[in-house]
Amino acid sequence: MKINASILETINFHVSKLPFETGGILGSHDGSLIDKLVMDIPSDKIEKPCSYTPNVDFLNDSIQQWKEKGISFMGIFHTHFGGAKMLSCGDKRYINAIMTAMPHTITYLYFPIFVLPERILVVYKAEKDGDGIKIFQDELQLLP
Ligand SMILES: [Zn+2]
Repeated sequence: MKINASILETINFHVSKLPFETGGILGSHDGSLIDKLVMDIPSDKIEKPCSYTPNVDFLNDSIQQWKEKGISFMGIFHTHFGGAKMLSCGDKRYINAIMTAMPHTITYLYFPIFVLPERILVVYKAEKDGDGIKIFQDELQLLP
């Protein structure tokens, strides 16, 4: 996953102020380098405060607005506390749900985790694979 360094700085800035798990959507002007970010706003129906649940309505609106501006939706990041670098069962569930809901033109998306307190981004890539979805770790490429 290629990402603009300023986007990572913005993520770092936003999440350091928040006491709960949060996330946001990642976009790209050229369909490859991530150079656009919208932070999620907490949904009013949070069931488990210690795990991230995407605010689907808000994110869908943002994705639609991007589409009109020619910005590709590239994936969703979220934060993990306590140094947890692996995707949780809940994470895998929503990744599968999102991938299944995507149009055919989208064959892969990124689902990085911003791990605290280390402040590192661990990248996962989800790819359509026949009728299923495969999820694997991907290399992080920071571009200036
Ligand atoms: Zn998670």
